Amino acid sequence: MLLSNTVLAQEPIKIYDSKVGQSIIVLADNLEAFPYTIKLEIKQKGLTLQEPLPDYFVVPGNSKGLEITRLNFKENSSWQISYKFQYMEGDADAIHDNDYVYQLPFKDAKFIMSQGYNGTSTHQGINALDFTMPKGQIILAARNGLVVKVKEDSNLGCPSSECMNQGNFVRILHDDGTMAEYHHLEFNGALVAVGDIIEQGQEVGNCGATGYATGPHLHFIVFKTDGIKQITIKTKFKYSPDKIGYLQEGNMYTAF
Ligand SMILES: [Zn+2]
Repeated sequence: MLLSNTVLAQEPIKIYDSKVGQSIIVLADNLEAFPYTIKLEIKQKGLTLQEPLPDYFVVPGNSKGLEITRLNFKENSSWQISYKFQYMEGDADAIHDNDYVYQLPFKDAKFIMSQGYNGTSTHQGINALDFTMPKGQIILAARNGLVVKVKEDSNLGCPSSECMNQGNFVRILHDDGTMAEYHHLEFNGALVAVGDIIEQGQEVGNCGATGYATGPHLHFIVFKTDGIKQITIKTKFKYSPDKIGYLQEGNMYTAF
């Protein structure tokens, strides 16, 4: 008899199994275009794991039938298997390329970076950057990558965490497995689509104030996960023709 957890149709991750010869193969699907990190527990009867389960495993975007592990049948025994799992957006195996030089995410303008890493207001404990910009300002990709998620259907924003889930954004997967997000885009303010390969400096969206925002600005983060929580990462920018470093809260930055 086979017992599997029922999963909702909307869930991005599916864990299931298939009987092949004298084994049960455990498989994962990821319906999203970006990686997930999954912590899996298996309860079984009449079966033996071929290998101990790892602490977590990473399922790349758009995976179908990725093999996680195998179990063998014990002889002359009835068997059961069921799963309990948690998943988190991002790749726990990603190692950020700290030598990568990010570019300022705008052109032909200068803007104040109103909040920086571990900032005084909403960035406490978070490595995120806020650039105060006018609504409609074109936002550029700070780094190359693949567009893996876009939300641009919201017209709602407010200076309260109630609006947190109403923010429009573009998410870009980097070649080191980390991801960047460009937040608070205006309604229909994405200039890219899932599946687009983006070059540094390419236009990705228009600034807005959707989501948890007091006014129009760009909230920029780079992150991975440890499987339980999001890990945000500091990144170096080229902020003048001859200067590379971490950006500082309260400073004005001029595109060049
Ligand atoms: Zn912010």
